[in-house]
Order: sequence, then C-alpha cells, then structure tokens
Amino acid sequence: MSTALLAAAQADFVTALGADRVFTDPDTLTLYSHDETAKACRPDAVLFPASHAHVVALVKVALAHHIALVPRAGGSGNVGGALPVTGSVVVSFECMRRIIEFNPADRYMVVEPGVVTADIDQLARQHGLFYPPDPGSAPYCRIGGNLAMNAAGPRAVKYGVTRDYVLGLRAVTGAGAEIRTGCRTTKGVTGYDLTRLLVGSEGTLALITEATVRLMPAPEARATLRVCYASNVAACQAVARVMQQAVIPCALEFMDQRSIAAIQAAGAATDLPHGTQALLMVEADGVTTDLPRQIAALSAALRGDGMLQLLEAANASEVAALWQARKALSHAVKRIAPLKINEDVVVPVSRLAELVAHIDTLALDTGLPVVSFGHAGNGNLHVNFMVDPANSRQLEHARASLQSLFAKVLALGGTLSGEHGIGTEKRDYMHLEVDAQTMDLLRVIKAQFDPQGLLNPGKLLSA
Ligand SMILES: Cc1cc2nc3c(=O)[nH]c(=O)nc-3n(C[C@H](O)[C@H](O)[C@H](O)COP(=O)(O)OP(=O)(O)OC[C@H]3O[C@@H](n4cnc5c(N)ncnc54)[C@H](O)[C@@H]3O)c2cc1C
Repeated sequence: MSTALLAAAQADFVTALGADRVFTDPDTLTLYSHDETAKACRPDAVLFPASHAHVVALVKVALAHHIALVPRAGGSGNVGGALPVTGSVVVSFECMRRIIEFNPADRYMVVEPGVVTADIDQLARQHGLFYPPDPGSAPYCRIGGNLAMNAAGPRAVKYGVTRDYVLGLRAVTGAGAEIRTGCRTTKGVTGYDLTRLLVGSEGTLALITEATVRLMPAPEARATLRVCYASNVAACQAVARVMQQAVIPCALEFMDQRSIAAIQAAGAATDLPHGTQALLMVEADGVTTDLPRQIAALSAALRGDGMLQLLEAANASEVAALWQARKALSHAVKRIAPLKINEDVVVPVSRLAELVAHIDTLALDTGLPVVSFGHAGNGNLHVNFMVDPANSRQLEHARASLQSLFAKVLALGGTLSGEHGIGTEKRDYMHLEVDAQTMDLLRVIKAQFDPQGLLNPGKLLSA
C-alpha cells in the first residue's frame, strides 16, 4: 500500500472504529506478523473491532481503499491462515469475546469469535453440558479460528468436529453484505447450507462475527487405557480392530517412538515395557455403570499381535498427566530440530497401518527424524518432518518426502488435511486432491462472496 493511501485508509479506519482500535506502531505490527508457522510478514495496520457493527464498518473502508484484510483469532494456526500478506491489514477478533446468550434448556450458546474455546466448554460444564470439539490448543485458540479451520481434537472420533456443533452464524462477506446462516434449533433445512460452507472457509469468504454453537450433555464418567505395542504397524492394526466393533471410544490417540520419547522427557509414561515402539491412548465415556462393558469390549479389540501391555489408568492424576503430555507434544517435538514441517493427513482407519509403514520407509530412506502422532481413530495423523533449514539436503529430502506422503495418502483414499486446513502451506498441493472443474467452482464461490478478493488473499486458493 502506498504511504498516501495508507494514511487515507488509516484515517477512515479510525473514523469507523475509534483511534484506540487502530494500531500501526512497530511493536504491534511485529506481534501480529506471524502465526504458528515459522514465517512472518508485517501488516500495515492491526484493527481490533469490538462489535459486529465495527466489522461492517471496517469492511466498507477496506472496499473503498481496496485493502486486503487478514482475519485473526488466537494466532495458533499452523498453515499460515492468519499470516499477513504484503500491504494487508490484520483484523484481530480478540476484543469480540462476549457470550451473547447461553441457553442450557435448548443446549446452545451464542458467542462472539474471540471467545477462547476452552471457556465455552468450561461454562457449559457448569450446567451439566459440554462443548465436544477439543483441539489441543483449546486453552488459547479462539472459536473464530476454530470455525474458520473446522478444528477438531481427540474427541472427534466419537463426537465429530467443529462443523458438527455449529447451528448458525452471523458474518460480513467480502462484499460487505451482512448475513445470517442456519438457525438455533438442531433441525433446520431452510435454503442452502451456508453454515457448512463458511465453517472451514479459512476467512476467505466472510468475517464471522457471531456463532450459535450446539452443546451436549456432559458424560457422567470416563476411563482411560494406555496400550503399548512392539511396532507402529501393530498399533495401527489394533486401531482398525477397535473401529470395526460397536463401542466407539471418545479418544483413540496414536504415538510413535519419537513421540513417546518426547512425552517421557516431559515426565509422563516413564514406566513403559521394554521394546515399546508405539502407544495408544484410548478413552471411553458415558454412564458410570456402562463403563466396564465399554472397557472390556475395547480391551478385547486392542489385544493382538505385537501388544506388549494394556493398563487402565489408576486415577485421575495419572489420566491428567498422560493428556497433558499428549497435548504438549506439538511443542515438545520442536526440540528435535529447528524446523518442523507439520502434515495433518487422513486415511480410512482400515488403511492406517499401510500409511505408517510408508512413513517408516520414508524415514529410513531419507534419514530424517519423522515424528508421527495423532487422532488415529479418525485415521488422522500429524506427520512431522524435523529438519535443519540451513541443511539444503535435508530440505530436499523433506520436499520429496511430502510429495511421496501425499501421493500415498490419496492412493489410500485419504485427504491432505484433517483439521489444520490449507492456508498458504498446503495451497500448492490442493490440485493433487481437487480436480480442475471443482477448483473452478471454488473460485466462482470465492468471487461471489468476495468480488474484490480482499479477504485473506493467497490462502486456501492461490491469489
Ligand atoms: C500446540 C498446538 C496444538 C494444536 N492442536 C490442534 C488440534 O488438536 N486440532 C486442531 O484442529 N488444530 C490444532 N492446532 C491448530 C490451531 O490451534 C487451530 O487451527 C485453531 O483452530 C486456530 O485457532 P486460532 O484462534 O488460533 O485461529 P488463528 O490461527 O488466528 O486463525 C485461523 C484461521 O481462521 C481465520 N479466522 C480467524 N478468525 C476469523 C473470523 N472471525 N472470521 C473468519 N475467519 C477467521 C484466520 O484468518 C485463519 O485463516 C494446534 C495448534 C497448536 C499450536
């Protein structure tokens, strides 16, 4: 943006929002120049709207001056979704954090996009309800980011993902139109399902200013199993057996040997049997009296070739320690190498063993440390290629490994991303999964919502 244009636009943003909501000082610009990727780009300004009306007003200014807007919630995304582009203005939703309505009787909550995800769950639990989507980042990510990325977590295997818990949205499109989608009831088929279109649209179609999220009755009790295996493949075969029987666990998490080493460094699971190469964390929830039946069924499925040990966590503090270590894994693995190339692939659970065998071969062939863990019950693995960015040979190996990983995932009937989204990081691989005609339709939809292409340009679709 030219200096003159920036000055004019800045004055209009100040008129629209007030001077205390428009920041251009170097410290703020630097603070908002990055997300969880190792990349950074300074925006020209950061805006902090406090209401839906503010968002309508700032989009009008952006349209008048043709300024790109980059929405941002908690900044914890790992595909560059909230990363500014040159000449852009960041719209931070941190100040829009009101719970507008909480209706326990009809099991919904109306929230602004800046509400921290864990706070929704916490408030719901005070009334015997809960909010099922549980990304590892829940204590600091915000519902706006979860909606835009269709976030999920361990509980997705039983309860589903963010999209399954959104009844309706209020938003402002890139054309400045104020829209409301969906309804407040658990059934509703009036018109096209724009709610499902906006959830997972990565801030490229509209700025979400309000969401009506669905709540569920909180389970009475839960039980956790820790199961050790002699190989990754043995653990993944057990996952497939679990998902073929009738009891659905509320978490079925996989960790390979390097992940285990990372959680052990954090003080958890230090007592594993000799020869453990892979670990499953399996959890069941429901009515207290039904838990023994669920655990018996799950244990039967988990036993098989290569199983070394199956333990039920003895108490709540053991369960908490295991989950704390699991949730800290994303950060813990960064100690292995300076750059983490973090993939988030999904395959049908019956093909998971084939995928981990392929990943094992990639690690062996390239000599790169590869750390795999994740939501195995959904067939969703976080595959982390750990590299030194100064080592061009390692970078080359990582690039080739990515191509090979994606080709394998698609050949197994899977998809490139299960929950992290596309952003800038996977945009250039979209064509591997989405055919040309379907891509054209995505662009038509984008142009309809955002004719000037101002909302999060270069994310999900190439600019
Ligand atoms: C340690 C760690 C663990 C993680 N674990 C998980 C996990 O288990 N599951 C999972 O799914 N993800 C996980 N993530 C990734 C990340 O937390 C999620 O993608 C999360 O949904 C991002 O939320 P945020 O509030 O930080 O959003 P941001 O990173 O700020 O933004 C994410 C996207 O949303 C857009 N956006 C933000 N607000 C709005 C709005 N109001 N309207 C329109 N678009 C908007 C942004 O432009 C961007 O494209 C993890 C990340 C970390 C660092």
